[in-house]
Amino acid sequence: MLTLSMTAHFVIADVDGVRVWQSPTHTRLVFDLSKPHEHKIFTLDSPYRIVVDLAGNARFKPKISDVALTSTLITGLRTGRQKNNDLRMVFQLRADVEPKSSIQPPNKIYPHHRLAIDLFEKNATQVEPIKTINTVADKVSYNKRDIIVAIDAGHGGEDPGAVGYRRTKEKDVVLKISKELARLLKEKPGYTPYLTRTGDYYIPLRERTKKARDANADLFISIHADAFKNSRAHGSSVFVLSERGASSEESRWLAEKENEADLVGGVSLGDKDDNLVMTLLDLSMTATRGASLSVGKSILDRMGKISRLHKKQVEEAGFMVLKAPDIPALLIETGFISNPGEAKKLATSYYQKKMAREIYNGLTEYFEEHPPEGSFIAWQKNGGFNGSASKVEQRYTIKRGDTLSHIAKRFNVSVGEIRRLNGIKNNRIQVGQTLKLPAS
Ligand SMILES: [Zn+2]
Repeated sequence: MLTLSMTAHFVIADVDGVRVWQSPTHTRLVFDLSKPHEHKIFTLDSPYRIVVDLAGNARFKPKISDVALTSTLITGLRTGRQKNNDLRMVFQLRADVEPKSSIQPPNKIYPHHRLAIDLFEKNATQVEPIKTINTVADKVSYNKRDIIVAIDAGHGGEDPGAVGYRRTKEKDVVLKISKELARLLKEKPGYTPYLTRTGDYYIPLRERTKKARDANADLFISIHADAFKNSRAHGSSVFVLSERGASSEESRWLAEKENEADLVGGVSLGDKDDNLVMTLLDLSMTATRGASLSVGKSILDRMGKISRLHKKQVEEAGFMVLKAPDIPALLIETGFISNPGEAKKLATSYYQKKMAREIYNGLTEYFEEHPPEGSFIAWQKNGGFNGSASKVEQRYTIKRGDTLSHIAKRFNVSVGEIRRLNGIKNNRIQVGQTLKLPAS
């Protein structure tokens, strides 16, 4: 049995709300308390449970059936009153856990004091394995490495980000755009996407870039759709990190707001500020700055085709999430969710897909111009087999009525070989498209 207790000013308080967030590494339980509160937490076995006792006549106000537990570690919740009148909340669990608790003071988004309890599964590996969405082997990359793009959907879980027209939440919009961008990159030979978050949970800002670094990312893109105090502000923008100061009032304002995300989303007690990272940052930031600006420009030009740009050039501000010293890093504002017209568009899957497509176009165009050494894209740029192999290939331009299997039969090769040579994943071909074919 493990007991944690925390003493605050002893005042009677109520539980006004309970939220549960499931991340790949832990479960976060959050209680909205009307006042800071004395509480006691302990775990029990067979079946596994976690018990939270709140002193005094605390009342449990939410409806138990309204607490969303689906797909979490928690299988049930009941409340009761102890002999000494303490409020007891018992959560049934699927596994044995180690709890860590903290109290967070009210902020702009949450007027309550929040008691957060992070449940770490015992006997589970603490560190989440880095799973890039696709492996090189899945694609036709001739053993050349893929370009890894880390896509960071801003906010998540306790931190909704900006909330706009009809309660559209930034965290939901940007996750959809991020997933669509990942899908497009996954289909393209030579690229592997990596999503820092895949669901509705919060990741501290520092951890986002750390995850990208652990995934060996060539580029880090954090995707947002923020609010501005002036609801007329609109248009998309691309930001790179500036250590010296912001390029405009809006960018300073946005960066300040973004940097508060950890206060809203909550950082677990295990997190500590990494001074070493900060020192390294100063040393090598300049090296990635040029690349950040130029990939940013390429994406901005593409986004300008579907939305008005907030500023015509890549902007600068001190975003904490961009502090990845060795990886070019960008923060993309896909629009202002505080602008009713833009919020309406951003909430539609049509526009989310269009936005993801232009970000994809911008970044692949950049990498085709500046492919990292040793990558499939670099090899392809140098002519692929044409550049290195001695075999002379034939080329064939597709005519109306052609199918891959007809062409394969005519040239006496397999459909698989045509696909491999041309980096095609399915049977879709277009009239006018030129196919490479092996030498006869
Ligand atoms: Zn944001």
